[in-house]
Amino acid sequence: MPSAELLKEAERQMMICNACRYCEGYCAVFPAMELRRVFTKGDLTYLANLCFDCRDCYYACQYAPPHEFAVNVPKLFAELRADTYQDYSWPAILSSLFKRNGRAVSLLTGAALGIILLFVLIFQGPAVLFGTHMGVGSFYRVVPYLVMTVPFLTIALYGLAVLLVGGFRFWRDTRSNLTDVVDFGAFWRATQDAFGLSYLKGGGVGCNYPAAAFAHGRRWLHHLVFYGFLLDFASTTIAALYDHFLGWVAPYPLLSWPVVLGTLGGIGLLIGTSGLLYLKWRSDRGPADKRMLNMDVAFLMLLFLTSATGMLLLALRESPAMGTLLVVHLGVVAGLFLTAPYGKFAHVVYRYAALVRNSIEQAGR
Ligand code: SF4
Ligand code: SF4
Repeated sequence: MPSAELLKEAERQMMICNACRYCEGYCAVFPAMELRRVFTKGDLTYLANLCFDCRDCYYACQYAPPHEFAVNVPKLFAELRADTYQDYSWPAILSSLFKRNGRAVSLLTGAALGIILLFVLIFQGPAVLFGTHMGVGSFYRVVPYLVMTVPFLTIALYGLAVLLVGGFRFWRDTRSNLTDVVDFGAFWRATQDAFGLSYLKGGGVGCNYPAAAFAHGRRWLHHLVFYGFLLDFASTTIAALYDHFLGWVAPYPLLSWPVVLGTLGGIGLLIGTSGLLYLKWRSDRGPADKRMLNMDVAFLMLLFLTSATGMLLLALRESPAMGTLLVVHLGVVAGLFLTAPYGKFAHVVYRYAALVRNSIEQAGR
């Protein structure tokens, strides 16, 4: 939960912004703020998750540090968002993974990789790991079908449950009417905003990222990551349908849907994640929060490794390196699935919920 000092500081800054209102055209946050005179924890949580960290308000602000008012909305909201992700996840013992997220992600991914490797060495034997496997079912000769499907499906469903419960708690605490969930118009408008990243357009000139100059780089790189992820998800889903319902077992030909979509998604993820990591490295630390930065880097690194190992596996699937690459790729994917509800991936749920809430609010309900 955000500390009393952080909530008090957030309320102070919102009071200043509400009197100033210079930034009201920049994003959805300021018009939403202007509907309020007092700022409860729920209000502040909602506003913080509506913020896209475009930083326009920081560089435009006449009261930003070193001014004595020290208004720094992007940093303040990043701190509140980090608290949101931790507060709404469960069980409480695992929500502590949000602290030192980079270390937690590395340890869990390393452990998952170690377990899969140990399993293959003990039950399949080292020869399988370094042998050349070709033709239908070659992947399953290294990691059996049940090991490749049941644990991953279980972790994915668990992660989905954690995120859905978190989304419900967020919805409840931001004082939204629960019947709002049937407002399909609000969902549609929020979906358009999320898919188009409207608030990173900065009205057409881009956002102030990584520094004070206006640029479009972050928005385009984020698009590559987002759509790359969706393409990879589509590829995995089609492969699962082929395997389970049509009996077409992997690996698939280069010109099949799973391979084409997976390759396009993988390229998007490689370019998008490395570009965003570069922008993060160059970004101004003034409006940044350390905890959120740590979470961002850990998630981007994991996505980069997932796509890099996946692409290498595709390129070398008929070579003796396939066994080792498959184990490494599965270990990284397991790390991604395990940590998804306890890291930056959680922003997908809370930002979308905040956009839906905003859409309802702005429609005058
Ligand atoms: S961020 Fe600064 S300029 Fe913008 S509304 Fe707040 S006080 Fe005014
Ligand atoms: S950083 Fe951008 S999105 Fe966040 S409050 Fe400021 S202008 Fe709005």
